[in-house]
Amino acid sequence: MLRRTICNRDCPDACGIVATVEDGRVVRLQGDREHPVTGGFLCYRTNQFLRTQYSKQRLTAPLLRKNGRLSEVSWSEALDYAAERLLAIRAESGPAAIFHYRSGGTLGLLVAQASELFFEKFGPVTVKRGDICSGAGEAAQELDFGVSDSSDLFDLENARHILLWGKNVCTSSPHTIVVLKRSKAACVLIDPLHHQSAALCERHVQLKPGADFALAMGIAAVLFERDWVDSAAASYCDHLDGFRALAQTRSVEAWCEEADVTVESAVDLARRLHEGPTTILIGWGMARRLHGAAIVRAVDALAAVSGNLGVPGGGASYYFRRRRAFRKLAEGLSARTICEPLFGPEVLRAQDPPIRAVWITAANPVAMLPDSRAVARALETRELVIVVDSWLSDTAERAHLVLPTTTLLEADDLLGAYGHHHLGQAQPVVAPPEGVKSDLGILQELALRVGLGDTMAGSTRAWKERLLGDGLSLDDMPMRNPLAPQVLFEGRRFPTPTGRVNLIHEPPAAPVEDPSYPLQLLSVSTPRSQSSQWAKEPPKPTSVTVHPDAARGIAHGALAVLESPLGSLTVRVEHDDKQRRDVAIVPKGGHLRDASCANVLVHARITDLGEGGALYDERVRLRPLV
Ligand code: SF4
Repeated sequence: MLRRTICNRDCPDACGIVATVEDGRVVRLQGDREHPVTGGFLCYRTNQFLRTQYSKQRLTAPLLRKNGRLSEVSWSEALDYAAERLLAIRAESGPAAIFHYRSGGTLGLLVAQASELFFEKFGPVTVKRGDICSGAGEAAQELDFGVSDSSDLFDLENARHILLWGKNVCTSSPHTIVVLKRSKAACVLIDPLHHQSAALCERHVQLKPGADFALAMGIAAVLFERDWVDSAAASYCDHLDGFRALAQTRSVEAWCEEADVTVESAVDLARRLHEGPTTILIGWGMARRLHGAAIVRAVDALAAVSGNLGVPGGGASYYFRRRRAFRKLAEGLSARTICEPLFGPEVLRAQDPPIRAVWITAANPVAMLPDSRAVARALETRELVIVVDSWLSDTAERAHLVLPTTTLLEADDLLGAYGHHHLGQAQPVVAPPEGVKSDLGILQELALRVGLGDTMAGSTRAWKERLLGDGLSLDDMPMRNPLAPQVLFEGRRFPTPTGRVNLIHEPPAAPVEDPSYPLQLLSVSTPRSQSSQWAKEPPKPTSVTVHPDAARGIAHGALAVLESPLGSLTVRVEHDDKQRRDVAIVPKGGHLRDASCANVLVHARITDLGEGGALYDERVRLRPLV
């Protein structure tokens, strides 16, 4: 029997999945040929998912900490315990003492809205603010354009040039590759790293890590110097003179020297923008820096002044507004907020009242947030930590109570995508194992114990229907978001206060580099993992990939110590002569328990806008293991 669902992972593609089910067990997963974007194939991670779905490590009963150990208990004991402790803490210290932390372990809107509604009505409690992942870039585009959104994915077919700026579509958005190939556009990769996406491109500009702002200014200086700026730009851009002055504070040569690229590269990129239509696909990594929003703003400005906004085939695409067509059930109330990238230090520091309890939905903050050891310490020192997950993650290991939930093959939810404009409905292709409940089911049973039964009542289908905005129907899913534009900003109208693009015109603070840490740590996604969820076990110890000249004599395959001012990791060194000599590449999503988590090296710091995580501004060095 074939059953269809939508992938709920934190990935731009939100693929249609076709599962072959025999005797109540999934035996095969394929991409849905009928899904307009998926086109019949899945990524390696989801192709391998059945080994995870049926792994012996899957949690199938609640775990309650007794005498220091997590032990299986019944659901009624687990939920009675949760209700009693949450009610007691709320009564003694007020709802602000309870922190509900939710992240992107599933992108399901029902899980998001149901958990937010529960904790809003129970409190409102403390919730997170900022966004570890896309916060800086979204905030930058909202400031520049009034909104962070994209033209239709298939509008790339109208592009003459496509710039993959810090974007590895092969790993992070594999279904975009099909569109790139169909578009016949000339692609250029702009990225400090060499990766598979270089093979899709006719050139690779391998700039210095973090020097994207300098390169953007060099390109802008060329545009102004050669009179390649759109002649109508002044009619739809504010601060055009200020942007020109910023670009011309230095010569093209000086900007290119800072970015460690040739002047010819900057001229070539400027020419491609001038020829247009050109779309810049903006990767999320380059915004995860102390001045990450300024980088995205500089790239936005290039697209604007070169006339590539509001035209078919043009754009500065960072995000697709995946939630826009759905309704919100929670009002967004909170007792106070904890900045997501500063989870560890802020939870440890919080007073009046201190955070006494943390409820974690769809997240593994110990592995995914910077300064993992501080996050772990923050959780280990709380009175009550409740984690809803399918596996015993680094975070769940520190919980007092772990509540087993459904996987992506059992999810019943609604999904938008942040890599295209199609919406979909996740439907269970198999029932969860006995002893596993959905997030909604868990919250509904807890609600009955804390006086919120009516608030949380209703079938899953009824909840989904409550979330549907105008023009949406469950029966029509997957469907294109009826509110999404084919061509964003058509007519050059921007939802900013002035109706015009707000061009960046102030320089960001210059980064400070400590020469005793000569390598830029870049912990990046891999085809094998979806953050800390690995298709196969992560390597132990983790690897670090460096140029042979940056290995300080440490042989390929040898163990070494990778250290930052914050921490250190034992790593296996891999040489790659296609990489720059100033980068150290570690796979994202390694586990703390395996000593493979790159976030032990990364300080908890935030970006210049949007309270994103400045994850890629950490300098490291290698030394031999003695
Ligand atoms: S992880 Fe991404 S690419 Fe892979 S199946 Fe899910 S949505 Fe598709």
